[in-house]
Amino acid sequence: MFVDVHTHLTHERFTGDLPDVIERAKSAGVHSIVCNGLDPESNRTVLQLSETYPEVLAALGIYPIQAIHSLLDESYGGEKITAFDVNAEIQFIREQSLQKNIVAVGECGMDGYWASEGTFAEQERVFRELVQISIDANIPVIVHSRKLEKRTLEVLASMEAPKVIMHCYCGKVKWAIQYANSHGFHFSIPANAAKNGNFIKMLKELPPERVLTETDAPYLAPVRGERNEPANVVGTVEFWAELTGVSLEDKAKVVQDNFSRLFDSPPSANSKTKQ
Ligand SMILES: [Zn+2]
Repeated sequence: MFVDVHTHLTHERFTGDLPDVIERAKSAGVHSIVCNGLDPESNRTVLQLSETYPEVLAALGIYPIQAIHSLLDESYGGEKITAFDVNAEIQFIREQSLQKNIVAVGECGMDGYWASEGTFAEQERVFRELVQISIDANIPVIVHSRKLEKRTLEVLASMEAPKVIMHCYCGKVKWAIQYANSHGFHFSIPANAAKNGNFIKMLKELPPERVLTETDAPYLAPVRGERNEPANVVGTVEFWAELTGVSLEDKAKVVQDNFSRLFDSPPSANSKTKQ
């Protein structure tokens, strides 16, 4: 059994054949697909998909660039963003967590690639609000940290977030190992791991109990230019097994156990609900 903790099945590249994509994942043994929202529209679609497909699990979030869309200036060169009320969306995500309609908060985090320094304080404010929702609901938070990896790790550590999944982490490997050991943070490795020195190093050096698998589909395909899909997480586990000289079954079980520990545990007695 395999898991994909970070996908975007709401992307328009899946509109034509999503049932086939999910069928291929199931045939490959991928039974849990955590679909991540980015903004109000994709968050609502994520909820619908999780009701339609038993394998699809809902994570709601606000992408860091979406979170500061009102502060972007002419220098911003990324995809067009439709304006929305960020604080209302944070509240919506909190309500969904209280109603137990979601298994995680994400995608959220901080980005220093698409946005400039003047936006970092507001990015961090929104990120902290979302992390707090995950802490209160005792569910994982799935984190984007591009070009602000160290700061993102520090924020999570300072909040003592207990269930952290760093998605497609591209910071220094020594920081990953440090935070995996000292704070129990998890790192989900994408399907293109075999082509990336950082991910190879992480698969070799991270404590195995902190490793998870993801695709970020439709992005980050193992074959450049192709559309990625959840079935491709199997290749990452195969690669990890080869790399470490362990059987595929053993490595698949490690990832499965890590996933279960994070996603299946009952809400803790002291998790508090805020108004
Ligand atoms: Zn993503």
